[in-house]
Amino acid sequence: MTIGRRQFVKTLGVAGVVLASDIPQSFAAEGRFAEKSQKSYDVAVIGAGVFGAWTAHELGRSGKKVILLDQYGPANSRSSSGGETRIIRMGYGAKEFYTRWSWRSLAAWKEFFARTAQPLFQNTGVLWMADAGDPSIAKTSATLTKVGIPFELLSHADLQKRFPQIGAEPSMVGLFEPESGALLARRAVQAVVADAIKNGVDYRVAAVVPPAVVPPAGERRLESIALGDGSAVTAAKFVFACGPWLPRIFPELLGGKIVPTRGEEFFFGLPGGDSRYATPAMPTWIDNTTETFGTPDIEGRGFKVGIDLHGPSFDPDRDSRTVNEDSLKFAREFLARRFPGLRNAPLLENRVCQYENTTNEDFLIDRHPALENVWLVGGGSGHGFKHGPALGAYVAAKLIEGGEVEPFFRLSNKGKVEAPSIFHR
Ligand SMILES: Cc1cc2nc3c(=O)[nH]c(=O)nc-3n(C[C@H](O)[C@H](O)[C@H](O)COP(=O)(O)OP(=O)(O)OC[C@H]3O[C@@H](n4cnc5c(N)ncnc54)[C@H](O)[C@@H]3O)c2cc1C
Repeated sequence: MTIGRRQFVKTLGVAGVVLASDIPQSFAAEGRFAEKSQKSYDVAVIGAGVFGAWTAHELGRSGKKVILLDQYGPANSRSSSGGETRIIRMGYGAKEFYTRWSWRSLAAWKEFFARTAQPLFQNTGVLWMADAGDPSIAKTSATLTKVGIPFELLSHADLQKRFPQIGAEPSMVGLFEPESGALLARRAVQAVVADAIKNGVDYRVAAVVPPAVVPPAGERRLESIALGDGSAVTAAKFVFACGPWLPRIFPELLGGKIVPTRGEEFFFGLPGGDSRYATPAMPTWIDNTTETFGTPDIEGRGFKVGIDLHGPSFDPDRDSRTVNEDSLKFAREFLARRFPGLRNAPLLENRVCQYENTTNEDFLIDRHPALENVWLVGGGSGHGFKHGPALGAYVAAKLIEGGEVEPFFRLSNKGKVEAPSIFHR
């Protein structure tokens, strides 16, 4: 039975599935919504965060019949992709693979934003700050040189001269990536989904019921997935890109191997008329000495301070997203020390998110060991956002062409995450 969009939306609401009012108008207006027919797909992608959105986008571009499903909507506020901004940097120490993916992704993001006429990348540059003896600076320099990515090494004197608004300690040096910057995360994911829909991908707001852990005897394939409203989606292949929800969908397989933990970001107001902490004077920054990161003021939202604090495990559906007072105190003390001009800056906004960590912070991209047509994609581990385009293209190629994934992406290489440490990285 074919039903109109209005009726479809109503049906979802009545069935207790998330209301379609969550669907941003930007793609609701132009999108092609999946109807509750018995249509069968080449691929069903579950999860419209940055990983699922780019995977569906790239599969759609390859001519596959794709449906993308999300329980709360693309880059919703509970998802890991739902923040205002995410850093895109090339520095990954000696991990050349991620440097190359980041570089490739930067080009793809820029091409995408140019084609869809949306300025969602801010080329602020990224400044690493570290102690002079920090080995990651030498490793990053070597990798960036090898890959041919521009960067500058800054002595303490260079840092002071170039960025006088930063209170760098005498022991500190810098590494500056001029091509890097910040992605306007939530809107970027929604733009990717809108473009995927425009190119023929079906999209639906629906909660997917976790499939049976043990398939019926003799079967190694998943034929369909059940949705919260009682309907089902049939596909030849399934990609579960469910971010921090992934271990809940496959608890036996991923419990303890992907562990969501709390992450917090604060946005502080600049003094009126003060442009020292806004782009272009202030770059996006990562401070290795304190495990903090942030962006300059972008679009007037405030100066962002993020803390790589790993608290206890975090339930993405239900846990409190009210800021922790100790974290705010830490952020304020850090601000007074590193950015003295913002010592008394008022807190404008804060966000509580979650990292979905693997033991080694490598992503999970692999087939389900018992279901040969099911792929598991996640474990963003606090650094996945930037890689959306490269990851989407990679997963699409594996689904279409086959072949083994890199060893570090495999499920077999994921250990149990130890009790969360205070700081990560
Ligand atoms: C505070 C913070 C700062 C970060 N900073 C950076 C950064 O600077 N740079 C960077 O590159 N990365 C950063 N990251 C990491 C990055 O945001 C994540 O790695 C990335 O967004 C993960 O995307 P994802 O698609 O895997 O998951 P998500 O964005 O969480 O998407 C998963 C989706 O699956 C859906 N879903 C789950 N279960 C179901 C179901 N049963 N049925 C239907 N849908 C379902 C959810 O609704 C959700 O929309 C940061 C993360 C945090 C928390």
